[in-house]
Amino acid sequence: MSSTALPITPGDAPPPLRLPEPALVFRTRAERLEALAKDHAAGDWLRFLARIARGQDRALREVRPGAAPRPAGGGGSPLAEAAARRDPSWRAMLRVVLASARDGALPAAAADAIARLEAAPPDVIEALADDLLAGAPADLAAAPFVGGALQAHLTRLAAAVEPTAVAPGGAACPVCGGTPVASVVLGDARVRYVVCGLCSAEWHLPRAQCAVCREAGKLSYLSVEDGPRGVAAEACEGCRAYLKVFDLAEAHGADVVADDAASLVLDLLVGERGFLRAGANPLAPGGERA
Ligand SMILES: [Zn+2]
Ligand SMILES: [Zn+2]
Repeated sequence: MSSTALPITPGDAPPPLRLPEPALVFRTRAERLEALAKDHAAGDWLRFLARIARGQDRALREVRPGAAPRPAGGGGSPLAEAAARRDPSWRAMLRVVLASARDGALPAAAADAIARLEAAPPDVIEALADDLLAGAPADLAAAPFVGGALQAHLTRLAAAVEPTAVAPGGAACPVCGGTPVASVVLGDARVRYVVCGLCSAEWHLPRAQCAVCREAGKLSYLSVEDGPRGVAAEACEGCRAYLKVFDLAEAHGADVVADDAASLVLDLLVGERGFLRAGANPLAPGGERA
């Protein structure tokens, strides 16, 4: 499901921005990952991601928020500064995420990464976060944990953003400057929102428009034959990028991060057609699976 539950009725102008409800996002995601793991070829990996999501949920309840970020001036993304110069509370969230992930069967690379992160000094962890935010995670095995903690931290901050301070614009998230993970199409109104992989904010975009280059009328919808319903790749003939879309009228209960991780077969198919993935999933960087 999407992170907020505002009903949108056909005929109403869709709100340009939907901000997350942190108390729901990660709990719902963990449940979705656990459900998807049943009868899935990558079930163990999805259950591992579910433990990260449980840890994110726990971190939000157990770690006190740091100082509120100063509002950014100049019309940029209001959380861009808070993402770049992070409050140390996010590293406390990382410790909770690591403890939660460790509580079950682990791929060897993940176990090593947890041990490394638990022993790492703050400057090393901050450098890993900088790499991840720049879109080039240097340590792929550590990235789901670092990305998970950043996601929890920024989702908490996004919930407190003043919507009028946000100006929708280019391909990046208008709230934090992050990369989208996927789109959702909501209910009867058939309204599409692009969802940020980092702060969980959702911004409205007409369905015909490419989320990356913003050209209209260049999208085709690719899906896996006999695959799950309501899951497709919006592939752009203009910029050759694609972003997944989850149609919640058909993909009941879909969650962008969970369902993206569970549909990596679609990435293979779309990649073979020569399209480049535009979505970034902090829990599954590079579509890595263990
Ligand atoms: Zn964002
Ligand atoms: Zn495009």
